[in-house]
Amino acid sequence: MARVLILGAGVAGHTAAQYSKKLLGKGHSVTVVSPNSQWNWIPSNIWVGVGKMGKKQVIFPLAPVYRRIGVDFHQAKAVAIRPEGDEADSTPAVDIEYTDPGRAGQTERLRYDFLINATGPQLKFDMTEGLGPDGGNSLSVCTYQHAHDTSEKLKDCIQKMREGTRQTLVIGTGHGACTCEGAAFEYVFNVEHELRDAGVREMADVYYLTNETELGDFGVGGMNFAQKDGSTVTSAQWMGQMFADRGIKVIDSAHVLRVDPGVVHFEQLDGSVGSQAFDFAMLLPPFRGVDMKAYDRSGADISDVLFAPSGFMKVDADYSQKPFEEWTAEDWPKTYESPAYPNVFAAGIAFAPPHAISRPQQTPTGNPIAPAPPRTGMPAGVQGRTVAETIAERIKSGDWSHKAKEASMADMGAACIASVGAGMLSGSAATITMGPIVPNYAQYPETGRDQELTQGELGLAGHWIKRLLHTMFIYKAKGLPGWSLIPE
Ligand SMILES: Cc1cc2nc3c(=O)[nH]c(=O)nc-3n(C[C@H](O)[C@H](O)[C@H](O)COP(=O)(O)OP(=O)(O)OC[C@H]3O[C@@H](n4cnc5c(N)ncnc54)[C@H](O)[C@@H]3O)c2cc1C
Repeated sequence: MARVLILGAGVAGHTAAQYSKKLLGKGHSVTVVSPNSQWNWIPSNIWVGVGKMGKKQVIFPLAPVYRRIGVDFHQAKAVAIRPEGDEADSTPAVDIEYTDPGRAGQTERLRYDFLINATGPQLKFDMTEGLGPDGGNSLSVCTYQHAHDTSEKLKDCIQKMREGTRQTLVIGTGHGACTCEGAAFEYVFNVEHELRDAGVREMADVYYLTNETELGDFGVGGMNFAQKDGSTVTSAQWMGQMFADRGIKVIDSAHVLRVDPGVVHFEQLDGSVGSQAFDFAMLLPPFRGVDMKAYDRSGADISDVLFAPSGFMKVDADYSQKPFEEWTAEDWPKTYESPAYPNVFAAGIAFAPPHAISRPQQTPTGNPIAPAPPRTGMPAGVQGRTVAETIAERIKSGDWSHKAKEASMADMGAACIASVGAGMLSGSAATITMGPIVPNYAQYPETGRDQELTQGELGLAGHWIKRLLHTMFIYKAKGLPGWSLIPE
């Protein structure tokens, strides 16, 4: 019997667990370690953050699902990987620390034959003084609880406007090295819609504060959208028009220096330093890998063998740190296998990207204006499934060096749907699709992307798709009949 151990039960880890069990059946064990008892469809946290959905609509308990499908579940966090085992036993292992209230603080060493690290991001609010909801002065929608708390603050804000007090709302990124600008864009778009819906839009000043050097960069160097008349519109022009139409003011190229109560201080690429007072600020944190160590058999620290300095896991990518001008789509990982330990994989946000896609820049004082590559849900799910398939083939064939399956972000598309409104007829959405995520100039010499797949559209259809995806992905994650027919 082979043992597959999966760290993390988010999009990548949970998908990997479902496919591993489906492909391997009862003859092999699949174990998931994750600190939260709940699964969360994070993209819908945006709707929780404006009060359009309750937090219970975006979560469900993991334990009953895993019990039903035959996956062992430990509500715990992984703290160390021992890919060579320990002095007593050479079987690879992971040290875990329970977060389950019944066993909180207890530790255990779990052995594995194959390991999937799908631990996602660590939310690094502490990289900016005063950032974040826990002890800081800004709000977040990164977790369902953050999003719920943020929606309460938004309600207060709307109430104050109804009572005649003008309010300033600042939404965006809380550090120059943030990723996930798509989520910030979706949130500002939703908040602006809520203010109009509540009849208080004219009482609000809405700012979008971003580390992008121009709107629509999204950490992918922007996009070109082909128009029906054969012309091209850049994502910067497209988004600029949308923001102008909605009266959303933009502070771009900004690294947040500090968030004081009611004031955000920032430095921009040209060195200018500014401050913006606010009544409500939702600023996303930068990400890094979760805190995990790695040790060799003798107990020596080999964390730098498994992990990049960002804390994300090194996989089959080119990490040679070549100049920005020289990178190619080929540098991006395909199999997500650790070069040091071929039975260790990282899927989703947990793997270390080889380089930035948007040109990283610095302010005169050395602060980063460097939108990091986006780490979206579809690639995370596809990577989780692909890695599970590789492992299942290796276990079933008995050939543990069997060629790995591939899923490169230089071949994969992504979509960002900023959908507003709750009704099927009254909703609307700004839908951006791109393919591939990592520009591939060898295949698409002009823009690096397939113009058929790279589009920006405003309308009701995107709203329907987003609402449908919410229902479909939660259905799939619950492992209900036919779940594997729903694509990632
Ligand atoms: C507000 C917001 C909106 C978004 N909207 C979209 C969208 O519209 N479309 C889209 O495609 N993407 C969107 N994304 C991105 C999407 O949520 C991520 O791409 C996706 O969640 C990544 O999946 P993952 O499995 O890598 O990480 P996660 O889903 O974050 O999962 C990580 C898992 O690891 C667990 N974990 C953490 N530490 C440990 C540890 N030490 N040991 C074991 N387990 C651990 C966590 O508890 C979690 O279960 C959004 C993100 C945010 C924040």
